[in-house]
Amino acid sequence: MDFEFTEEQLKLKEKVKNFVDEEVIPKIAEYDRKEEFPWEIMKKAFDLGIMNVRLPKEYGGKGLGLLDEVIVIEEVAVGCVGLATSMNVNSLGFEPIILAGNKEQKEKYLRPLTEKLKFVSFALSEYVAGSDAAGIQCKAEKKGDKYIINGSKFWITNASVSDYFVVFTKTGEDRWKKKHLTAFIVEKDWEGVKVPPKMKKLGLRVSPTCAINFKNVEVPIENMLGSEGEGFQIAMDTFNASRPAIGAFGIGLARAALKYSIKYANERKAFTTPIKNFQLIQKLIAEMVVGIEAAKLLTYKASVAIDKGKPNGTLSSCAKLLGSKVASDATREAIQIWGGRGFLSNNPVEKLYRDAKVLEIYEGTSQIQEIIIGNNALNGIYKPDR
Ligand SMILES: Cc1cc2nc3c(=O)[nH]c(=O)nc-3n(C[C@H](O)[C@H](O)[C@H](O)COP(=O)(O)OP(=O)(O)OC[C@H]3O[C@@H](n4cnc5c(N)ncnc54)[C@H](O)[C@@H]3O)c2cc1C
Repeated sequence: MDFEFTEEQLKLKEKVKNFVDEEVIPKIAEYDRKEEFPWEIMKKAFDLGIMNVRLPKEYGGKGLGLLDEVIVIEEVAVGCVGLATSMNVNSLGFEPIILAGNKEQKEKYLRPLTEKLKFVSFALSEYVAGSDAAGIQCKAEKKGDKYIINGSKFWITNASVSDYFVVFTKTGEDRWKKKHLTAFIVEKDWEGVKVPPKMKKLGLRVSPTCAINFKNVEVPIENMLGSEGEGFQIAMDTFNASRPAIGAFGIGLARAALKYSIKYANERKAFTTPIKNFQLIQKLIAEMVVGIEAAKLLTYKASVAIDKGKPNGTLSSCAKLLGSKVASDATREAIQIWGGRGFLSNNPVEKLYRDAKVLEIYEGTSQIQEIIIGNNALNGIYKPDR
């Protein structure tokens, strides 16, 4: 057991940290205020080589592991978790292609992501079905050598800026066998695809969230991922690989909350002394530190399991569950430490608090993570002594 990052990983971490200090922290509040997609920052991140780090070398990528991606994304989340979300949703979008795509699909849709700043969205959720992924209604019907897609997706990150989407559709009726969903790669400029204006949100305002409407969209059979009926499994395997990154978002947010809390606790005086001298303030800081350190262990462990080819859904869910809770707790208590100033809009902790809540919702709510973890333990999938 070794808790150290390698030299390369430490260099990568430092590179991202410098980028966040210089390019993100001074500029991101303004993007957030305007609810604007930070194209300029994204372009710089792409040029610096810190996007899509997990794309395979075969297709022009860096071929790094999930732990490397988590290192990058944790640092970006210290600067802005909305930026981290929009950067890393590519990973959620390209994972189904890595898992189930054939050589031609990978060449056509993965390589361009390494050559130019491009985005790919993961389109599973619908207005009628989020947690209940097997209950989606967007349909794909086979017609000759094509499928015709009709229906809508909802809450799709980056849909307005993405060039293509991995779309999960219903191709059969028997939902209980979970063999009724099929995934397709759909290009945004195909006839019948429409992305309405982005939604207004509590937080994550630099990251666009949109619906996607499909009206008689013709998709060639070559764009089907895996076989008909494999969509549900592809989506679940994708989440196993993507959920540790949400743990990393949570760690980054909590680290930012801790940083601003320490700064304020040193500066602010009450009863003639800096508030850092009050033991109840020290308790809040201590809880943040414990949460961050515990979330790091779980998130890095879940990531290493995937890098070693032993994905562990229980660990991935634990990492997401804990990381998002730690972020919610830390950002809430950061406001408490900042007192009345924390409640105003022109301070850094207010944005952290607004941004944190979504971590307990997207990519499976906290309740869904608890159900996965509980079921795995009760059915012998998770073994505590392993
Ligand atoms: C900013 C943002 C970005 C998103 N990006 C994407 C994206 O890129 N792609 C995508 O496909 N989706 C995306 N989503 C959708 C997200 O994954 C869903 O919102 C989430 O899975 C929850 O689904 P729901 O909103 O339909 O809630 P529901 O499923 O309706 O759940 C409502 C409540 O009931 C609880 N609940 C549901 N079922 C159970 C149960 N069996 N037991 C106990 N409690 C239960 C939930 O935990 C929740 O508290 C995004 C959402 C947001 C807010």
